[in-house]
Amino acid sequence: MSSTIQRPAKSWKLALWTVSGGCRLHFRRGGAAVLVSGLLILGGCKSRQLTTPTVQMEIDAQHWVRVLLLEDVTTCTLKTNAAFSVIDGRTNLQTQITRARFQQAGVPTSIRLTNGAIMIGGQTFADDHIVILPDDPHIFNLDGNDYRGKLKFILNADGGSFDVINLVPPEPYLAGVVGAEMPDYWETEALKAQAVAARTYCFYIKKRFGVNRDWDLRQTAAHQVYRGMSAESARIWEAVNQTKGQVLACRQTDGTDEILPAYYSSTCGGHTENSKNVFGGSFETLIGVSCPYCQDVAKPKFFFWPMVQFDKTEVRARLLESYASLRPLGDITDILPAGRSDYGDYARLTNIKLVGSTGESGFIRAEDFRLTLDPTGRKFRSTVCQIVELGEKWAFLSGRGWGHGVGMCQCGAEGMARQGRKAEQILSHYYPASRIINIY
Ligand SMILES: [Zn+2]
Repeated sequence: MSSTIQRPAKSWKLALWTVSGGCRLHFRRGGAAVLVSGLLILGGCKSRQLTTPTVQMEIDAQHWVRVLLLEDVTTCTLKTNAAFSVIDGRTNLQTQITRARFQQAGVPTSIRLTNGAIMIGGQTFADDHIVILPDDPHIFNLDGNDYRGKLKFILNADGGSFDVINLVPPEPYLAGVVGAEMPDYWETEALKAQAVAARTYCFYIKKRFGVNRDWDLRQTAAHQVYRGMSAESARIWEAVNQTKGQVLACRQTDGTDEILPAYYSSTCGGHTENSKNVFGGSFETLIGVSCPYCQDVAKPKFFFWPMVQFDKTEVRARLLESYASLRPLGDITDILPAGRSDYGDYARLTNIKLVGSTGESGFIRAEDFRLTLDPTGRKFRSTVCQIVELGEKWAFLSGRGWGHGVGMCQCGAEGMARQGRKAEQILSHYYPASRIINIY
């Protein structure tokens, strides 16, 4: 979800085994690397990876997370440090049919499309759904990145490409998310709050959208960032394990608990935002709350971001490319705030009015407007800002915060943890009226 947290160049790191590098190093806080044993390949050695076998491989199938790693590709490279089985991916765990066994551990296996079929290590498979199950410790390397669990290949309908999906139990998935979304040296209670928020968001998306497709989440900030084993560390695993199975829910009038879309973002700028102003939908637990905590955690240059400018022609082109409905406007002659959440000294824009040279006008959610102009969100960092016309440019200035501002403020969570608050207190602050339930 947020890729905007700033991470120092070196935190304390533990690297014992990787499928790709096979290096054994121990990094200490401060950056001095001490060779423990084995092969030293500094260039290919990734940080923070742990050797433990993959947990929860026996957990009920309904809880496995399906992460889309590659989309519409025709080739990729697999490496495992154990033998692996190729299984018919259309069958369930009870009736699965093993198609082949590969014994070549530690060597790259080419997987590619050949004549409309998937070929693994020179062997062609007729199935359109194929699962690769590496033996214990159930770790594999895909195109240079280490992951846990299984790997699924789905041949696309036209037979011209395939998608690659990581089937991973929830806790290993979350270790790969929490370590990507937050620096691992942050307070344990902040990491635990992040683990619960990420688990909640995962199961919300899985239930809401995963039922209608072959995967649950993307591995990018479009959902939440998942970096597999390279994001893991002992502290990250501790936060994930200490909150095992916990998600946030709100009690419905019929007495049932509903998992909420636990959005979170980097730095709210002083006040979080009501989800209905950003994503639509109304959730009593996703209202805006005051956050006096993030300013002390975020670097000043990230809390207050510098003015960003876009050429008027560029603004028009980007908007029309994304919103054909704005074409009747002609040139855009004015950009006006049409909705805002007022916090006193500053306000978050929630709706934007675009005035056209033809006399027509159109409206767009401010967060959509921001990400249309700057899809990475790295320059135009939030809608807590003012809009000014500067000659042939539109400028956005007096900016605060980073991200959409809905739900937990990650820097704020760290600020609360530094003040001694527990993960439960952090979560109940940012998701008021929510409760923690265990789903497995
Ligand atoms: Zn905040």
